[in-house]
Amino acid sequence: MRSDQWWEARHARLVKNEEAFRQYNNRRLQHEPVSAEDDEEQIPFVCECGDPDCVQALVVTAAEFTGAHSAANRFVVLPGHVYPDVERVVESYERYQVVAKLDMDVDPSVAG
Ligand SMILES: [Zn+2]
Repeated sequence: MRSDQWWEARHARLVKNEEAFRQYNNRRLQHEPVSAEDDEEQIPFVCECGDPDCVQALVVTAAEFTGAHSAANRFVVLPGHVYPDVERVVESYERYQVVAKLDMDVDPSVAG
């Protein structure tokens, strides 16, 4: 397997895992008896990092959760649960970090 193919396969797996957890967390938030702007109630979500074995709790408020997902490529992870080759940290807090996926939409003919 060429290295760029390996990288794409790895990236796809990481993103798939993170999107799955993000969807899980979104469903969870919909079942919480709080508004999406609530910043009092601490809600246990699941870490959205790319590690398929990571199911650690990540406790944030609904407002923090909603704010962290301001863009489609942003995910909430526990501090240090970051894969620097596919994402970068955009916000850091004591209890969690927000990561943004690096742009993958590169034209192969240009990238050479
Ligand atoms: Zn994690």
